[in-house]
Amino acid sequence: MIPEIEKAPIAKIKTFQEDKLKGLLGYLNANSEYYKRVFKQHNISINNINSLEDLTTIPTTSKEDLQKYNDDFICVPKHKIIDYVTTSGTLGEPVTFALTDNDLERLAYNEAISFACAGVQQDDILQLMTTMDRRFMAGLAYFLGIRKLGAGIIRVGNGIPELQWDSILKFKPTYLIAVPSFLLKLIEHAKQHEIDINASGIKGAICIGESLREQDFSDNALAKKIKKSWNIELFSTYASTEMSTAFTECEHQQGGHHHPELIIVEILNDKDNSVNDGEVGELTITTLGIEAMPLLRFKTGDMVKAHNSRCECGRNTMRLGPVVGRKKQMIKYKGTTLYPPAMNNILNNFGEVESYVIEISHNTIGTDEILIKIATQTPTEALSQNIKDHFRAKLRVMPKIEFHDKKIIQQLQFPKLSRKPMIVFDKRRFLI
Ligand SMILES: [Zn+2]
Repeated sequence: MIPEIEKAPIAKIKTFQEDKLKGLLGYLNANSEYYKRVFKQHNISINNINSLEDLTTIPTTSKEDLQKYNDDFICVPKHKIIDYVTTSGTLGEPVTFALTDNDLERLAYNEAISFACAGVQQDDILQLMTTMDRRFMAGLAYFLGIRKLGAGIIRVGNGIPELQWDSILKFKPTYLIAVPSFLLKLIEHAKQHEIDINASGIKGAICIGESLREQDFSDNALAKKIKKSWNIELFSTYASTEMSTAFTECEHQQGGHHHPELIIVEILNDKDNSVNDGEVGELTITTLGIEAMPLLRFKTGDMVKAHNSRCECGRNTMRLGPVVGRKKQMIKYKGTTLYPPAMNNILNNFGEVESYVIEISHNTIGTDEILIKIATQTPTEALSQNIKDHFRAKLRVMPKIEFHDKKIIQQLQFPKLSRKPMIVFDKRRFLI
């Protein structure tokens, strides 16, 4: 189930997208209060936008815009809205995302081709280990996609390793959909209860929320840790509510494939121009085929690298490398810049580290400080020093290390109303 356009030559993919873009601009100009205003304020005539390159003449849309003018982005009357989703905003209040019936259908198509990209077939059964409700988009999208693909689904939801294993042993799913670090919890539970995980029939896991790869697509520490105990394939996917589109790895696991019928991708520098090939920049997207809340040049805040060479799977579409980090979480440390995921990679390499959170703050002289709070059975000076040495050698930064009780770290990771664990706490934005 590879859509024809994904195997088409790059030039054809481009003209295909430009055609779709023109349709989108006409739609926004007729239905979006927000974009009508932008076009007017910036004297943009949509008839002058003909190529993907012309996009740079249109201002980008930020998360703040989306939050401030939330309702103005909705292009349909209320009675056409079927599903309401929220996503955490940057200014405190969550941002509402509305979906029409057609949007849900598009979401189903997106996930169906994404699962197919990872090799999932009609006779597979998938166990869903993420939340389907709580105003989340992801869980529902997976359900719809699997239904469209014609595969089976077991909706266990997140957490509860005991129920997960009960379902695995009872229904014999072939794939799991999970946050990778949760797979470690499943492994731990299986070991404690003498379950033979490698006889469980699981072929692979479609993973969300955490990276599995280094920038060269080799397995990172987390992926290695999982695979050491469990002989399964791990597929990385990257998606967000705003994009309503997933970038999923194929069997060659060389980055998440772009679906050109669903989204236009730009990788931008600080001046909102495209970066050079192979450079890291901010992922900026324009959604295609969305009815209720289409977005034009929306800056996701994620720093990524695009890979444009042809993939061995036959697709010519661009592949997204693992997220380097959140743009806002860039840390400047004595001439070095880095992002939290690089720190996760180091910490995940330490078997003694059970869980942790990273706090970033400004010190009194205005430079960034990194404090890592760790839960471990062995809170020794030697471990602290060993971790610091690795940070200095690999990232050229020197974090402070504190040891805390596992319960304290757990509480920090799951603040009230949080739907996913929080690892990074950036305290800098609250300071002037
Ligand atoms: Zn591929």
